[in-house]
Formats: sequence, structure tokens, C-alpha cells
Amino acid sequence: MYTGTLFIISAPSGAGKSSLIRAYLEQKDHHPAKVSISHTTRNPRPGELHGTHYYFVDHKHFESLIDEQAFVEYAHVFENYYGTSKAEIEQSLSQGINVFLDIDWQGAQQVREKMPQAKSIFILPPSLKELENRLIKRGQDDATVINKRMQKAQAEISHYNEYDYIIINDDFECSLNALNSIINAASLEQPKQALANQQLLKELLVNN
Ligand code: GDP
Ligand code: ADP
Ligand code: 5GP
Repeated sequence: MYTGTLFIISAPSGAGKSSLIRAYLEQKDHHPAKVSISHTTRNPRPGELHGTHYYFVDHKHFESLIDEQAFVEYAHVFENYYGTSKAEIEQSLSQGINVFLDIDWQGAQQVREKMPQAKSIFILPPSLKELENRLIKRGQDDATVINKRMQKAQAEISHYNEYDYIIINDDFECSLNALNSIINAASLEQPKQALANQQLLKELLVNN
């Protein structure tokens, strides 16, 4: 059993998933955690770095990784491939490090099948108008791309009922508190606590 927890986080593009994960990791006393870096065939946005935001690879390379069964999941999103490599997550989880997967609903379905112990969280915007405003305000995609993402939003949102938790990202601080609660609760689940406190349990059960 892994001592770290795998958190699947999905949302329609622009709902605030990346901002929430970033804010979680910027807190001083969070549980050890990392974001899994996906492979993608899409082009880097200005400021995005290979090995930091994504591993940017071409189609041929991505397909060779599929053949090698290097991915826990992969999907075609917005005309590009995106995938999570096994190596990215397994080592961290076995070291007690929580891992966040920022992946779409198709990837989430595949991960749930293979790793049913994963916790999945869906982030929703407070309205479609606000979702569009955030995509515009983020200033990273042109109008055509934003339109495409808005059209895909409904399809993404329709999968909300496959997730363990839902956060409506209206007030950012409230959403961050909600995320903290989910992560803290996961670390307190009995099997995780039993594994982390084996010595104490032995001592407490000395006369058993
Ligand atoms: P964002 O929507 O603005 O965060 O844009 P991104 O380009 O970072 O992500 C595009 C889509 O790909 C989102 O739906 C992500 O959840 C999804 N995605 C990112 N990484 C992965 C991955 O490793 N696997 C899968 N299945 N989906 C991913
Ligand atoms: P995602 O990763 O889901 O595509 P981002 O985290 O990039 O979304 O957020 C999209 C934009 O919305 C960013 O400019 C971010 O600063 C902004 N944003 C995120 N959460 C909120 C919020 N609760 N209120 C207002 N703006 C937000
Ligand atoms: P973006 O192109 O804006 O970085 O990402 C677009 C979408 O692809 C987001 O919804 C993001 O969560 C998803 N995505 C990113 N990486 C992966 C991945 O490795 N696998 C899957 N299935 N989706 C991903």
C-alpha cells in the first residue's frame, strides 16, 4: 500500500484548478506533496518550461511512450495528447508524498480503474460567465482557443458526478480551505494512520 495519497483534480479549463494547487503548495505546513508533470504534445505557452509545467514532446515520441506502456492514463484533449507517466507518481506515493494529478475526466476515469484508492476532486466555476471572464483575464489563450474551451466546458462539467468531492471556486480562500480539508481528511483515514503509527499502536496494544 502507498503511504502517499493520489489526488485527481479536474475542472473545466479556467475554473481555477492550477491556481488552487499552486496556492496549496505555497502554504508553509502542508503535507509533503507534488504535482505530477504530464507529457503533452501541445506547444508551450509563453513562460512554460519543459520539465516544470509539462514534458513537451512531439506526437511520435508520445506514441512511442504509449507503446512502452509508460502511462497510467492518457487522453486526447483539445486536439493534443496529454498523459501521466507511471514513473511520475509511483516513486512519490511510495515515499509518503501526496501526488496531484491535474487531468481531464477521461484521464480521471482511467486512473480510478487502475488506482481505486485515489481521491478525486472536481472544481466548478460559480457561473459560465465567470469561467469565460477568467479565461480572458488569464490572457494566455486567443479568442478562438477560449471559444473552444468554453464549448468543451459543458462536456467536462457533465462528469461532475464521477468525483468524490466538488469545490465551487467562487471565493478563492474558501476554496483553498475546502481543498485543505479534503487533503487533511485523507491523511487521517484509518489505513494511513495505522501505517504511519505502527509503533504507537504496538505500544498501546501491549497487553492485547
Ligand atoms: P488548463 O485547463 O488551463 O489547466 O490547461 P492545460 O493545458 O494545463 O490542461 C488541458 C487539459 O488537459 C485539462 O483538462 C487537464 O486536466 C488535462 N490534463 C493535463 N494533464 C493531464 C494528464 O496527465 N492526463 C490527462 N488525462 N489529462 C491531463
Ligand atoms: P485552470 O487551471 O482550471 O485552467 P487557472 O488556475 O489558470 O485555471 O485559473 C484561471 C484564471 O482564473 C486565472 O487567471 C486565475 O488567477 C483566476 N482565478 C482562479 N480562481 C479564482 C477565483 N476564485 N476568483 C477569481 N479569479 C480566479
Ligand atoms: P492546457 O492545455 O490548458 O495546459 O490543458 C488542457 C487540459 O488538459 C486541462 O483540462 C488539463 O487538466 C488537461 N491535462 C493536462 N495534462 C493532462 C494529462 O496528463 N492527462 C490528461 N488526461 N489530461 C491532462
